[in-house]
Amino acid sequence: MQPGNEPSFRQSVDLMFNRAVALMDLPPGLEEKIRVCNATYKVRFGVRLRGQIETFVGYRSVHSEHMEPVKGGIRFSLGVNQDEVEALAALMTYKCALVEAPFGGSKGGLCVDPGQYDEHEMELITRRFAYELIKRDLINPSQNVPAPDMGTGEREMAWIADQYARMNTTDINARACVTGKPPHAGGIAGRVEATGRGVQYALQEYFRHPEDVAKSGLSGSLDGKRVIVQGLGNVGYHAASFLSAEDGCKITAIIERDGALVDERGLDVEAVHHWIAKHGGVTGYADATHVADGAKVLENDCDILIPAAMEGVINLTNAAKIKASLIIEAANGPVTAGADDVLREKGVVIIPDMFANGGGVTVSYFEWVKNLSHIRFGRMQRRQEEARHQLVVDELERLSASSGTGWTLSPDFKEKYLRGADELELVRSGLDDTMRAAYQSMREVWHSRDDVDDLRVSAYLVAIGRVAASYKAKGL
Ligand code: GLU
Repeated sequence: MQPGNEPSFRQSVDLMFNRAVALMDLPPGLEEKIRVCNATYKVRFGVRLRGQIETFVGYRSVHSEHMEPVKGGIRFSLGVNQDEVEALAALMTYKCALVEAPFGGSKGGLCVDPGQYDEHEMELITRRFAYELIKRDLINPSQNVPAPDMGTGEREMAWIADQYARMNTTDINARACVTGKPPHAGGIAGRVEATGRGVQYALQEYFRHPEDVAKSGLSGSLDGKRVIVQGLGNVGYHAASFLSAEDGCKITAIIERDGALVDERGLDVEAVHHWIAKHGGVTGYADATHVADGAKVLENDCDILIPAAMEGVINLTNAAKIKASLIIEAANGPVTAGADDVLREKGVVIIPDMFANGGGVTVSYFEWVKNLSHIRFGRMQRRQEEARHQLVVDELERLSASSGTGWTLSPDFKEKYLRGADELELVRSGLDDTMRAAYQSMREVWHSRDDVDDLRVSAYLVAIGRVAASYKAKGL
């Protein structure tokens, strides 16, 4: 939720859209057609729990159907409201266009605090919400495909998939009605960590371009960079974990609901994650300084700030005090339109949400394709690839032996080279390729146009251009 004196989340997304669209030359009316949310379905339904009927309010919003199915997560949170769901649906349209996932944009939400109910109760609530959406084709493999978001995960997606299958017993593609399912229920390897992995790939790609890195006043590689992560949920945890374990970043602060942990030497992400899972928050964690006013820590000195929790956390009340020179939006909409103006003015580089967190929907796309093709990625090729690599290795060893050079292939090389790619490796490769390609498309706009000086507008220009082209091709 944005602070009182700022535009709402949806208005904030519209303001960002308007800033970009003003630089485009779209046919009259098309701009408005793209901006507006096509439809938002609001449903109230009752579930009998603990001997009495409780009424829940849920939404599924479809922002743009220039491509179908439309795609986007379902959020479970007490903060869910129509404005938020519509803002998130719009961001899904632009995100899918930017990462070239062939979907329109949608989003769903249910006003519920999952912490208040046990597993069985949550299953009843989720299945009932899914029933309401399925019977109106708002969950459907060819029309609308949800996925996890805040407050939901593999468990909820498995219930939704099963609910759809029960209501559509002859649909051979039933499993493709939702993504983010667990592996044994039609999921894909690497989906849980996909958004965090995408944040890592996004940063790796940014740091491949020294001129871009210089724009944020930084230099060198990710190694040794001081990073603050806000929100150690699914996205923040995986991003922090990969960046610290694989890229040499130091996670100097982790901000959670009950305060922040700070340690300039770098926090042990796994230990903190463990602690939160056990104790429900960061309070009491002994190996770091605890700061009760967590939000204040967003203003601490660091190289990279990763807001990975929710919208509006960087707003007009704190934007001017942010010290990070590079912000990567792992959450959707963490920087308000007003804060965006302030930060751009200060020269802060913002890697925008629609790119930075596009890894989730990218791997969802792979899962949907897997479900429709009814076969795991790599199943046909893997052993054939290994056999061909074995041929090369045998031949190199034969040449080495017959020429008497004494060259040998190192065991490490052989081990890596001989192994055919499994599903997880293919998913990572596809995700990395997607993040690089999406960055390149934004970067080209950023560097080639004199009237563009930030990545967000660049991202919108690319995304809106693609959506517009798709509408034009339909004759609109
Ligand atoms: N909820 C995620 C997002 O905001 C994932 C959406 C999806 O996979 O469809 O991008």
